[in-house]
Amino acid sequence: MHLPLPDTALRRRLGRLAALTLPLALLYSAPASAGTCTQRTERHTDPNTGQTWQKAFYCTNADNTTMYAGPNDSTPVATMKTTNSWFVCWRRGERHAGGNNVWYYSKGDTSRSGWGGRKAWGYMPAVKLTTSVDPAPGMPECRPDMWQAEKKVSDPNTGKSWSTVWYGRNDAGVKLYRDADTKVTTGYLDSTTSWFVCYKRGATHAGGNNVWYYTQGDRSTSAYKSRRGWGYMPATNLHARKHPYDSIPACPSPGSKPPAPPPPPPAGNYVLPLPRAAFERTIGSLTHHHWGDNYWAIDLMVPTGTPVYSVSAGVVTKYSQGTCGNGLSIKGDDGLSYLYCHGARYVGVGPGERVRPGQLILYSGNTGASGAPHLHLEIKKWVGNWSTSPAYCSQRFLRAIYRGQPQSPTRFPAKGGNCKAP
Ligand SMILES: [Zn+2]
Repeated sequence: MHLPLPDTALRRRLGRLAALTLPLALLYSAPASAGTCTQRTERHTDPNTGQTWQKAFYCTNADNTTMYAGPNDSTPVATMKTTNSWFVCWRRGERHAGGNNVWYYSKGDTSRSGWGGRKAWGYMPAVKLTTSVDPAPGMPECRPDMWQAEKKVSDPNTGKSWSTVWYGRNDAGVKLYRDADTKVTTGYLDSTTSWFVCYKRGATHAGGNNVWYYTQGDRSTSAYKSRRGWGYMPATNLHARKHPYDSIPACPSPGSKPPAPPPPPPAGNYVLPLPRAAFERTIGSLTHHHWGDNYWAIDLMVPTGTPVYSVSAGVVTKYSQGTCGNGLSIKGDDGLSYLYCHGARYVGVGPGERVRPGQLILYSGNTGASGAPHLHLEIKKWVGNWSTSPAYCSQRFLRAIYRGQPQSPTRFPAKGGNCKAP
């Protein structure tokens, strides 16, 4: 969870002092309406949900504030740069540093990498707004809605995988069915904020329509354990503005073939960090240093969404963020440290987890200090400090793996040597 900084408490205190003492009021140039939001007649349409609002509420907020995917989803999707911004509605969700669970919905100024499709719409925790009371008086509550999130889920029953899910509010303890009818129960959904991957039309249910949503339940019925809880839920149990919800796709029909999964990497102590075909398209990367600079690493130019595999067996030590973007550090069983950077998204592999060579650890992307989609791979012998740890030439190491002769990176030149693998 990215906890917002509790700077609003300070702003609020300053605001109150300003109201009491004139000199401070002159020094602190807060607007006269600090602590309240100003209502204006203004039309805003959210392309994610199709909703239109005729009123906007202008509130003071912290600068460069992160907007999140949902009030219960701490994925950053956008940034709000303005400090007097409009908001259209509020919703309750996760409790944040402001001491309450109110989140405000608006359109930010810039989208985060990989989230351009949302057009910067997202939720800001109330702690980032200078409001005297939350929710802000007069502002409407957001209507029941679904929100998209990037999440990798696979259904073993159909072999189909999804990388986007739709979260929504549902009744507690609802039944899931084998098909879009109420004949056979396969599982139960205990959570009341749940994700769904697609919808299907079937039998008309108590909600008066024939829309059913497909998801993985929290429990299976004993007769359907092998389905791992997957099943259809009648739309009547889902609190959404409309059914089917605007942007959720129809479930694939049974006859359609699922896309072929990426071929498994070859066995061995070391494997390529990418599917072989993707690696071949960036093989030119082996012929030069890390963009000619004095830095021992490799940049493999691959499109966003390319699977990234662990080169070695080892244990994930941490999520590496900042300039590395969505990255991972892995301590290899060989004693070396492997750093993978700029991923589009994680796949549920995190610190403490053991990985085997060829295990999917990330999807490549363009996050962090990255000018174009690529995978940055750096291999070092850990000596207690990343910057002084000696680095090995990934170029020659990867070429050896590619040629079917995997051997330890320590067999190749270290920092100071020639990394080019012609
Ligand atoms: Zn790089």
